Amino acid sequence: MKNIKGKIMEIVYHPHPILRRQADPVKVEKIKSPEFKQFLADMEATMLAKDGAGLAAPQVGISEKIVVIAGKNGNNLILINPQITHRSWGKIISEEGCLSIIDNRGRIIYGKVERHKHVTCQYIDAQGKKKKIQAEEPLARVIQHELDHLDGILFIDRLID
Ligand SMILES: [Zn+2]
Repeated sequence: MKNIKGKIMEIVYHPHPILRRQADPVKVEKIKSPEFKQFLADMEATMLAKDGAGLAAPQVGISEKIVVIAGKNGNNLILINPQITHRSWGKIISEEGCLSIIDNRGRIIYGKVERHKHVTCQYIDAQGKKKKIQAEEPLARVIQHELDHLDGILFIDRLID
């Protein structure tokens, strides 16, 4: 996977309607195809180039349940058909931004959002294996933000001030 060179894709900006659509689940049999591996590499390259903490497929115009999250030393987390299976009672308010939400000068807009402090997320990895991750703030926040994209929800819908 790391030996595939990704290309930088165009970001889709709010209020594009694809950002409001419910994304389709990925068909598991296509996960090992070269085209799909290339798309994952393209998503990673795009996230890196735009300096995003995460990127969801609808943000590059593909309405499918795929998310990449930036990890240390290029060990990015790839979540296919992710689902949150547990949310903590505790919540934390913190600032978020989104590559798809910019002002008229092209700058990312930030705002405060309340998110669950811990979440457990079930997903399929890039090898097609079922996985589960228990995440805390700040990773839990990124997971919640990116999974919202797959449901057509943007952080501006959740602003607290
Ligand atoms: Zn976003």
